[in-house]
Amino acid sequence: MKIYSFDKSYQLFAEAQKLIPNGIYGPRSPFFLTYGSYPCFFTRGKGSHVWDVDGNEYIDYMCSFGTNLLGMCDPEVDNAALGQMKLGDSFTLPTDRWNELARTMVEQIDGMDWVAYAKNGSDVTTYATTIARQHTGRRKIITIKDAYNGSHFWCSHGHNGVPEEYSAHVHSFEFNRIDQLKLLVDEFKGDIAGIMVTPHHHAAMADQVLPNESFYPELEAICKQEGIVLIMDDIRCGFRLHAAGSHCYYGADPDIICFGKAMANGYPIAAIMGKTDFKPAAEMVFFTGTHFFAAVPMAAAMATINIINRDHIIEHIYKKGLKLKEGIESQAKDMGLEIHYTGHPVMPFMRFANDDDFSLNRFFCGEAAKHGIFLHPHHNWFVCNAHSEDDIEHTLEVVGECFKLTKEKMVEK
Ligand code: PMP
Repeated sequence: MKIYSFDKSYQLFAEAQKLIPNGIYGPRSPFFLTYGSYPCFFTRGKGSHVWDVDGNEYIDYMCSFGTNLLGMCDPEVDNAALGQMKLGDSFTLPTDRWNELARTMVEQIDGMDWVAYAKNGSDVTTYATTIARQHTGRRKIITIKDAYNGSHFWCSHGHNGVPEEYSAHVHSFEFNRIDQLKLLVDEFKGDIAGIMVTPHHHAAMADQVLPNESFYPELEAICKQEGIVLIMDDIRCGFRLHAAGSHCYYGADPDIICFGKAMANGYPIAAIMGKTDFKPAAEMVFFTGTHFFAAVPMAAAMATINIINRDHIIEHIYKKGLKLKEGIESQAKDMGLEIHYTGHPVMPFMRFANDDDFSLNRFFCGEAAKHGIFLHPHHNWFVCNAHSEDDIEHTLEVVGECFKLTKEKMVEK
């Protein structure tokens, strides 16, 4: 098997470091991957495949951190976007796509009566907290420990340059641990505005945790009893687990839901939706952004949602994800390697048992990248509808090879 090299990527990264803080910031930094074993820049993508600046081709299991649900450059989505682009994208007033997408979303997402748009997931998770605070007149926001809800100050995982006061009223409990939540509810009685949960727990560098049977019923009972707004951050799972929202997949009944990532197959848009009761508070909170009104991503979102429904995308990606999971688990077993493969099959997280510093995972994923399979050592992967049988079979071949190399590495370790 050909082993890739990344000369041009690292030349460009060296230049970027001179021009741009950290060269590449956030989770796309090469320092978050296996430094030296991954490319730093892509040039193009089609379906489930992407190409880097050195001309190497990959089967991509990160899908732009989840945005590419149908695959890169889906022709129908791109045509819808192009059609709108010819009419114009950014105007002084919204276009008629504004209402069209609102109708589509309200019809699509179970139990939600209104929608507002933004660009990034962080825009709408922050808006959700302000709506909950405005609605209740309370201060506290409860999140899940180690969950990622965005990059804004109230929930940022980085603390440099962020005064502590921004998160002074944010507290957390571990996913599924209603006992811990009850302690917080007692401690901050009458002052909790909202609880924000992801549909299941998908923190970085940790096994994913699915909700146990009693989690949502108990959580909802507490919210109802205490007058707390239940917010679901469906930004990562949304449109992958269930076409009507991940709360349907897990049988939950949130008051407010945040979407982003996959809703327009890579075009930049996020959305917040809520029940009627929360619309007055949403109307009183200041919320806007120059690009929130752009029409091209709205056209792309409608095309994406149409395809999700028409082509039964959720069923297809589930089958693909299951094939990948079963293939990887059986190869690991044959090789006598103990792995944890957790979460929903369309967005799994894999790591090796007893690899607490993730060094084996970094090695394994780095080798996979050098052999044309783009996985992530610290973050869950994503399956998209463009992953073909051939893609998955080839992936399993490469994974088998990389498991072998990892086993040798374990002996050295
Ligand atoms: N919530 C969740 C669950 C996410 O996965 C992310 C992004 N990884 C966000 C919020 C923030 O979204 P964005 O990066 O678009 O601001």
